Amino acid sequence: MDDRTHEPAHSICPFCGVGCGIEYAPASGKATGWRGPVNRKGEVCPKGVAAYDAVTDDERLTTPRIRRGDGKLHEASWEEAWKRIEQEFGTVLDQHGPDSLYFFASSNCTNEENYLLQKVARLCGTNNVDNCARLCHSSTVAAMGARFGAGAMTNTLDDLTEADCFLVVGANPAVNHPVIFRSYLLPAIKQGTTMIHVDPRATDTTEAADHHLPVRPGYDIPLLNAMAAVVVEEGLVDAGFIADRTTEFGPLKQFLGEVDVDAAAEQAGVDPEDLRAAARAYGEADAAAIFTGMGMSQHHCGTANVHALLNLALLTGNVGKPGSGVNPLRGQNNVQGAGDVGALPSVLPGYRPVTDDEGRADLADVWGVDPAAIPAAPGLTEVEATHAMGESVHAAYVFAENVAVTEPNQSRVREQLEECFLVVHDIFPSETTEYADVVLPGSAWAEKEGTVTNTDRQVMRMRPNTTPPGDARTDLAIIRELGRRITDDAFEYDSPAQVFAELTRATPIYGGMRYENIGDGSLRWPFPEGAESGTDVLHVDRFEHGDRTAEFRVVEHVDPVDPVAEDDLVLTTGRVIEHFNSGAVTRRSDTLLRLRGAETLQIHPDDAEARGIEDGETVRVENDRGAVTVAAEVTPAIRRGAVFMTFHDDDPLVNVLTGDTLDPEAKIPEYKHSAVRVEVVSCD
Ligand code: SF4
Repeated sequence: MDDRTHEPAHSICPFCGVGCGIEYAPASGKATGWRGPVNRKGEVCPKGVAAYDAVTDDERLTTPRIRRGDGKLHEASWEEAWKRIEQEFGTVLDQHGPDSLYFFASSNCTNEENYLLQKVARLCGTNNVDNCARLCHSSTVAAMGARFGAGAMTNTLDDLTEADCFLVVGANPAVNHPVIFRSYLLPAIKQGTTMIHVDPRATDTTEAADHHLPVRPGYDIPLLNAMAAVVVEEGLVDAGFIADRTTEFGPLKQFLGEVDVDAAAEQAGVDPEDLRAAARAYGEADAAAIFTGMGMSQHHCGTANVHALLNLALLTGNVGKPGSGVNPLRGQNNVQGAGDVGALPSVLPGYRPVTDDEGRADLADVWGVDPAAIPAAPGLTEVEATHAMGESVHAAYVFAENVAVTEPNQSRVREQLEECFLVVHDIFPSETTEYADVVLPGSAWAEKEGTVTNTDRQVMRMRPNTTPPGDARTDLAIIRELGRRITDDAFEYDSPAQVFAELTRATPIYGGMRYENIGDGSLRWPFPEGAESGTDVLHVDRFEHGDRTAEFRVVEHVDPVDPVAEDDLVLTTGRVIEHFNSGAVTRRSDTLLRLRGAETLQIHPDDAEARGIEDGETVRVENDRGAVTVAAEVTPAIRRGAVFMTFHDDDPLVNVLTGDTLDPEAKIPEYKHSAVRVEVVSCD
């Protein structure tokens, strides 16, 4: 029974990077929208409405738990839990050194919480800290950071409504970013903006599109190179922009001149004339905006995919002006902010490389420590850390992530989790708490105060609508206590505002922001110290790396990792509107479960017929990494040769099928191309 007081207070939805304003609704006991900086009419999607269900759920973790001699988790006092953590982390530190510790930060928690957790890691002497951004858009950030100097949306949701053409690649905003789609994209489309949708599936987004290119999973580069070749061939380039704002056009022009558009379209699995028409629509537009999603980024060649996309924007002069640019649609509600404030293994707050002596010295100055206290060697990324458990990583702190569902190649991950002393800090028992040695009960979104940064770089405030249940504590209080217990720093902060004040000094792109100035609105980065306001459209006169020009890059196709045998299909994964990430929170909402039935495998009618599969039949999906059984959904919405499942469930656990080959630069795993065999489950 929930005996807490619940009062409405303006907060931010925890479920996606759109960042809608939501609060407790006394009349319904659920959440409702307020007129926030993004959802200006107070509109929310079904997940937003159900967001309070998790806050009041009876299965919330309300006391710490410790695994005892009988192998089971038992309730414990906070002091007992902290003593166990101090003892185990201390022993590991003494025996194996700081890089034997690992910290999983959380892209659905606040900037202040993530900032403090990366501070804990670095003051322990390791850069072994990462967050779930590694798994969704690290490749986008790597490519955009290298070429443009900032791994974030180039434009704002407001100015993007001025575009004449939207090129939506590997994203399904109608389902995954519903308020952006309905309140920004759809009205523009109704006013005449053309939309091109590149996706192996026909989705709700496709219904609003003028062009659909159902690309073969893993073949984005030939498709984008062919579109770029058409743009050059048909004189649709912006010669003035190329001369003034780019370098290395010559090698790209020569490369594109040798691209056989028909052959590349065929390799990408799309009709050459459809591809040409889409390239013309993009190239002829006065202002054309690219939206990119995980269909592009979650490949072992994700960084190369995004580089090919950036070429298209530069060729047509679609950077640095309203209604244009390259705009990654971020997944979790603070995936942008978690990276901004340094919860990454190779960069400090504000994306300053850990190898940069000046950056470390500046950070040490803010923290009042010797610069030598901040390690210079990049840490492990999230997937690398799971592979290293039991070998070089011996103790890990998992903050509000469900790695036993979200990481690829789960059979391997779950074996590795057994090898490590694991602390899990979360709000519900999850698949990951089953591997925990200590479980710490934290706070849900409606119990938090602090800031989050949405997909178009707006920093907004969360405010508590209630208090944590039972003996659970706020996440910020828990991380401060962790810092006090395992580092030499006192982690003395009176409030999230005080943490924010420090993080703005440590994070130059947030340098001019003041907590009290956010109010019910937002502040947008980059907002350096001394500036009067943040910057809306990036790269107008100079790219964020400081140069006036960005380079073109020749991007060659990279073959998928999994060989596809004659009878194999290619599994790609994604989301549905009702659920969020591993489903650990949304699967607890009766409302959402009612809206969404059981998981299915989408399969094309021709592929189903060839295997004797009827709609609704149970099928086995298998490869060398694992197998799941699931009901078949026979539909022409998925292209021939491909099948689709979501990753929101533990059963079927799609990530036993996905591989863990990593992008060489961003270390993002290959989630979108796994060769599988599909067959009817025999009744015998
Ligand atoms: Fe929440 Fe995203 Fe839905 Fe807005 S669109 S209510 S932020 S899940």
